[in-house]
Amino acid sequence: MTSIIWFRDDLRLSDHRALDAALAAAPTNTRAIFLITPRTWLHHGWGAPRVAYLLKSLSALHSELYDRGITLEVRNIESYEQAPACLSEMALEYNCTEVHAGIEYGVNEQRRDLNVRQALELLGCSLILHHTQTAVPVDQITTATGTPYKVFTPFKAAWDKLWASSARPEPTTPELIPNSTTSVQSSVVPKTIDGFAAWPQLEQWEAGTNAGIRRLEQFIECDVEHYHTNRDRPDLTGTSTLSPWLAVGSISTTMCLDLLIEQYGPSFDDWPKGPLTWKNELVWREFYRHVMNAFPDVSKSRPMKAWTDHVPWREDSEELTRWKQGQTGIEIVDAAMNQLSQTGWMHNRTRMIVAMFLTKNLLVNWRHGERHFSTHLVDYDFASNNGGWQWAASTGTDAAPYFRIFNPDTQALRFDPDGSYRRRWLAETAALSPEPIVDLKESRKQAIEIFKQAQSNADS
Ligand SMILES: Cc1cc2nc3c(=O)[nH]c(=O)nc-3n(C[C@H](O)[C@H](O)[C@H](O)COP(=O)(O)OP(=O)(O)OC[C@H]3O[C@@H](n4cnc5c(N)ncnc54)[C@H](O)[C@@H]3O)c2cc1C
Repeated sequence: MTSIIWFRDDLRLSDHRALDAALAAAPTNTRAIFLITPRTWLHHGWGAPRVAYLLKSLSALHSELYDRGITLEVRNIESYEQAPACLSEMALEYNCTEVHAGIEYGVNEQRRDLNVRQALELLGCSLILHHTQTAVPVDQITTATGTPYKVFTPFKAAWDKLWASSARPEPTTPELIPNSTTSVQSSVVPKTIDGFAAWPQLEQWEAGTNAGIRRLEQFIECDVEHYHTNRDRPDLTGTSTLSPWLAVGSISTTMCLDLLIEQYGPSFDDWPKGPLTWKNELVWREFYRHVMNAFPDVSKSRPMKAWTDHVPWREDSEELTRWKQGQTGIEIVDAAMNQLSQTGWMHNRTRMIVAMFLTKNLLVNWRHGERHFSTHLVDYDFASNNGGWQWAASTGTDAAPYFRIFNPDTQALRFDPDGSYRRRWLAETAALSPEPIVDLKESRKQAIEIFKQAQSNADS
């Protein structure tokens, strides 16, 4: 018998329940597959950075699998619609009775999986899904009344409880077969994909599980104990920068937590503030997946707070273009947008600042910002990005209240006190720096009025 492990956003061998199950079902006959779906990715707003990093990570996974005598097949099927036919063909070709994969929470992903399941069943083959993206099954967390959580703090309490009570299998990695005689004819992972430009900044980013673990170990050794004080400072290297690895799943939340447990023990109560705060950020990631699963509207570009659709958002505008180009004349905003275009990454504090500036001071529809980030971030992750944008725009669940609007200049003084972040990312464009495109105080006042009006219009 043959089993198939279908990799998605979980490109690793350790802490992988789907891979473990596929190997248990057919220890010497497991095939690994990855489906490239550029048309769907374009439709979902992915950009060159995310795709380039995915391919690099896939290449690392291919090598790791190769060393273990497992074949990785990479097939370009253009879009999710072709997945049922492709999986059926493979199931027949390999005489396969079980396909194992990680659960994905998006509406289109769930529809794809339903169609694949139905197609495989006709062939006597099962699609079996496992939790590979989160440390606990976030789709099973509910309030006492059985409803999903909308607020982070009680969700975190429930998450902590579930984590403490969950029996976790010992972390495993399939055995290394150094002199394997298995014939492995893995498909070569493409370097580029039609529809996505090459991304020159890719060389700034290491990929693959081993590189991710090295980064994680370095962060835990040097920075995690200061995380609670340094995490808001874009001028320091106070955060882990592990988001690209987590986005493609080369490392998992559980792998991060396991290393912290080795260092600080199994009970969160005993952890110092730094690691505890960092753990909670990982739980934010899981919270947004919980929200995405429980509220499918999130995947349909709808706000969690319906009344915010009464805000007269501005659509395409000169200001939006200037924001994208880092030419707003507000230093911290322009520095952050330059960091994004030059590296594919932006610090969390400045993500919040630029998002709030766009959606409040400029009153531009948050969906434009969400889309710009999705096409430019190397760590693009739908749930976290949508969660971050809806937080900043005050349209989301547990979002910033609409009247709490950051002043970017004050934020800059507080979180980039000596200006080194701004100097670094404005260095190349300093000569072009324009006058501010908006009056911060006036636009703040106006935004609060407009939100207030929108809420009362929706109520009446
Ligand atoms: C407008 C906006 C858009 C965002 N878009 C994305 C995105 O596309 N992809 C993405 O991974 N994160 C996104 N975030 C969340 C956060 O900014 C990044 O995860 C973080 O900056 C990554 O840096 P790090 O790995 O050094 O994080 P660390 O501070 O070291 O945190 C560790 C990990 O925890 C998770 N995490 C941390 N903060 C958050 C958060 N607020 N929400 C959800 N998860 C979090 C990430 O996986 C991160 O890698 C967004 C935030 C905002 C405000």
